[in-house]
Amino acid sequence: MRTILLGPPGAGKGTQAETIVNEFSIPHISTGDIFRSNIKEGTTLGKKAKEYMDQGLLVPDELTIELVKDRLLQDDCKNGFLLDGFPRTIAQADALEDALKSMNQSLDCVINIVVSAELLIERAVGRRVCKDCGQTYHVKFNPSSKEGICDKCGGELLQRKDDTEETVSKRISVYQEQTEPLIEYYTNKGIIINIDGEKPIDEVSRDIVASLRSR
Ligand code: ADP
Ligand code: AMP
Repeated sequence: MRTILLGPPGAGKGTQAETIVNEFSIPHISTGDIFRSNIKEGTTLGKKAKEYMDQGLLVPDELTIELVKDRLLQDDCKNGFLLDGFPRTIAQADALEDALKSMNQSLDCVINIVVSAELLIERAVGRRVCKDCGQTYHVKFNPSSKEGICDKCGGELLQRKDDTEETVSKRISVYQEQTEPLIEYYTNKGIIINIDGEKPIDEVSRDIVASLRSR
């Protein structure tokens, strides 16, 4: 299955990606995660990306598109993939379509997680991520059993630098301006699946898996 998770910051894309990739045995490709690991490793790409990410802005298309094209050529993407957080602009969506065409592939569907703007800030500001294994929690909606400690690996839970109220608000307006037009783009292609992302995590997962299985 070749699919995309679309939705505003804090909608639950990363959370739902975990279930989808386990269920369908496909790799999870999160451009945000790729940039964050480059920042951690201090690469040139990481240094460039950080300037934009810290301000809540999108990393320029020319840096992002090549990265994803290279990733899609890797062996584990042969039978499908789940893109999370890419594409985020029409130019990225067009480039993805061209890249897939050149590999004789196409997208099966696009999962659009719908959550109202009011809920997004609380979700993103309360997000905590394990510094070692990357597992995501929420202080209120999905807490770890021991505060500040990852259930999976015992690592320390941290708040992302771009999850302050100010930066999240900026990211939401960037989403509305640059990414939201993709909903119409993929609706016109007849491949969008709209999912109510305001339900509890387990129910959203069930709805997504059921929709994907019934296609
Ligand atoms: P995204 O990848 O879209 O930015 P995440 O999956 O990281 O979003 O989720 C953002 C925050 O909201 C996390 O702290 C996560 O635990 C929490 N969350 C995700 N889905 C739900 C949900 N359905 N209900 C409540 N909280 C959720
Ligand atoms: P995310 O982890 O998806 O919330 O992304 C965190 C940040 O990484 C975003 O606010 C952007 O700065 C950057 N980013 C991630 N994916 C993309 C993309 N497809 N295009 C441009 N910037 C991106």
